[in-house]
Amino acid sequence: MPFGNSFWWLFQRFTAWVGRIHFVANAEIVSIGTELLLGQILDSDAPFLAQHLSSLGISVFYRSTVGDNRNRIADTLRLALSRADIVICVGGLGPTQDDLTREVIADVMCIPLVRDATVVAGLSAWFTRRGIVDIRPSIYRQADVPLGGVTLPNAFGTAPGLWLEAGSKLVIALPGPPSEFEPMVTSSVLPSLRRYLGQSDQVIHSQTLRLVGMGEAEAESLLLDVMQGHNPSVAPYAKQAEVHLRVTASAGSVEEAELLMSPVVQEIRTRLGSCVYSINGDDLETTVVNLLDLSGETVATAESCTGGLLAGRLTAVPGSSAVFETGVVAYANQTKVAFLDVSLSTLNAAGAVSSDVAGQMALGIQRKAASTYGIGITGIAGPGGGDIDKPVGLVYIALAHSGGVDVVRHVFTGDRNDVRVRSTQAALGLLRAIIIKNHAL
Ligand code: ATP
Repeated sequence: MPFGNSFWWLFQRFTAWVGRIHFVANAEIVSIGTELLLGQILDSDAPFLAQHLSSLGISVFYRSTVGDNRNRIADTLRLALSRADIVICVGGLGPTQDDLTREVIADVMCIPLVRDATVVAGLSAWFTRRGIVDIRPSIYRQADVPLGGVTLPNAFGTAPGLWLEAGSKLVIALPGPPSEFEPMVTSSVLPSLRRYLGQSDQVIHSQTLRLVGMGEAEAESLLLDVMQGHNPSVAPYAKQAEVHLRVTASAGSVEEAELLMSPVVQEIRTRLGSCVYSINGDDLETTVVNLLDLSGETVATAESCTGGLLAGRLTAVPGSSAVFETGVVAYANQTKVAFLDVSLSTLNAAGAVSSDVAGQMALGIQRKAASTYGIGITGIAGPGGGDIDKPVGLVYIALAHSGGVDVVRHVFTGDRNDVRVRSTQAALGLLRAIIIKNHAL
């Protein structure tokens, strides 16, 4: 190698190394496949990868989707390389003519493609084992690798993945089928990325804080500066009826990671107050059952639109028999009257979906079950049954307690299932709040 070239090679290696120490890596995921653009399949690979990248402290600033078109893939790749340290292509590694990822990477990076003899031998053996001797030549396109790249073994298919370091950039290409993609991510890509980022002796440790009664946007606005941090990093996840905040730290041991995370967790709890209901992974029903157990109290439920979902959630918690008395599904008006002593005149005057009926349901079940708390839920889960005064999603949740009965009116969004789940979540949140208040927990 002439001096100039070897100097340049050393210089590139050096800058790549220095760059890696100093930068907090960011990645772009490029999903390749016309069927993704047409909406024929949903991109499940990119979210899977993005979550794992965040656990390594790698930020994903952009995700792109591009069809199986050589020029457009090249343009997308160039743009990704101009703004990300790590570019991860998903799909287009198969043997057919529309599988272009390897070739385009080689073109864009100006690196020749070479056929990897080991991969060729592996492909031959793979087909021979299945009794296929007449192997189409195009199959061997999967053995083409840009010079200097390494292949990532594919335990569940024929197309290997690709790992290519060039200067300060890293390009990874992975097969599209999730059954091949996901194992390759967990078994090859993540460990290799950890080594690449100099995290080989590090552990990645996470803790999830669960929120009730606060949306993602509100939580984010209160934690903007906290979320800027990289180690620990804080990422919000909107779940069906609640928000999770995942705090992740990278350190030499789990204990060290917890030490790093502890002040951040504390800060989040201070800022979000009682909206943080769990820091140990417990769900809301488990939290409520534990609180009732701690306070030696009991609950009974009377449900209309949720059809027993609340009772189901509570009784799914091991040990709930100590705190759950009974649950009534009072769908029809006559059941509300017969089982819960709801007054017929209230039903006629205010309607089944009303604050008064919810309150009477809660008081009725509390009295019948002789429980500390009674919960009443009545509402319109949809999709039909709503009007201007009482729209779909309108739900009254009542909580009877020693000091009387509280009723909260909600208008939930989403489909029937969303409305029902959100109703039970709100009911559990209400119960939790009063136990905490009554017992100064
Ligand atoms: P193959 O060897 O099967 O051709 P490939 O790497 O070339 O694999 P594609 O041809 O792009 O991948 O996609 C093959 C199939 O993998 C798609 O039809 C789809 O079912 C699935 N797939 C591809 N990309 C994704 C994605 N981002 N999310 C979920 N599934 C995907």
